[in-house]
Amino acid sequence: MIDVNDVNGRILYEDDDHKFIWLGVDDVDSSDEIQTMQYLIIDHNRGVLLDPGGVHIFAHVVSAVSRYISLDNIDVIFYSHQDPDVSSGIAMWLGITKAQIHISSLWVRFLPHFGIVDSKRIVPIPDDGSTIKISENAELQCIPAHFMHSPGNFNLYDPKSKILFSGDIGAAVFDEGKEYVFVEDFAQHVPLIEGFHKRYMASNSIVKKWCERVRAINPKIIAPQHGALYAGESITEFLNWLSNLKCGVDLM
Ligand code: FE
Repeated sequence: MIDVNDVNGRILYEDDDHKFIWLGVDDVDSSDEIQTMQYLIIDHNRGVLLDPGGVHIFAHVVSAVSRYISLDNIDVIFYSHQDPDVSSGIAMWLGITKAQIHISSLWVRFLPHFGIVDSKRIVPIPDDGSTIKISENAELQCIPAHFMHSPGNFNLYDPKSKILFSGDIGAAVFDEGKEYVFVEDFAQHVPLIEGFHKRYMASNSIVKKWCERVRAINPKIIAPQHGALYAGESITEFLNWLSNLKCGVDLM
């Protein structure tokens, strides 16, 4: 069960001019839909929003963001991939912010199908990744994570907080009322992540390469878009588990 204090989220990292914030959970009954988690990075009072999600959670995310920063100060919206739970709110977000949208170049031409989209505000991320400069001395890294699960898929790494936003990678599906914020017992967490990763991730060769890349980055927290966050020992356990997982075409 998510603590009532966490409905408003948690600041995962904070220094004088930089914050990485988990925006909490929507308190509406969500048993029929995929639960999503949104994050906000603030640097020198400028904001970057990560996978802000679809239409039905728009109001929740707007009010969560507004607790920390003015919407006028959101400069960047990052989309890990094209799924509706990630990006279907795009027309609304373009309407209430001045932000530029960063998303894989593969999906740029699909975005107008979610509503009226000004293509001048879309920044395509090339296949081998990019960096997003957010202030004089802070930049974010778009890390390629293709075929996990989307063929045009990126993670976002924030070197200041050492937090890796992993999109769908590491995602868990909880039973109603059984949610928790951080993975405490990885063995108990496996049944909540196994089905999704086996079905959605392309193959063991793909996930293995991603695990090697993440080990080299050595993040302090892995923050997925669904489920629970990984820190410390649970990162090692998750990477060991995932790099040995047979999935996707291995099983078909
Ligand atoms: Fe997805």
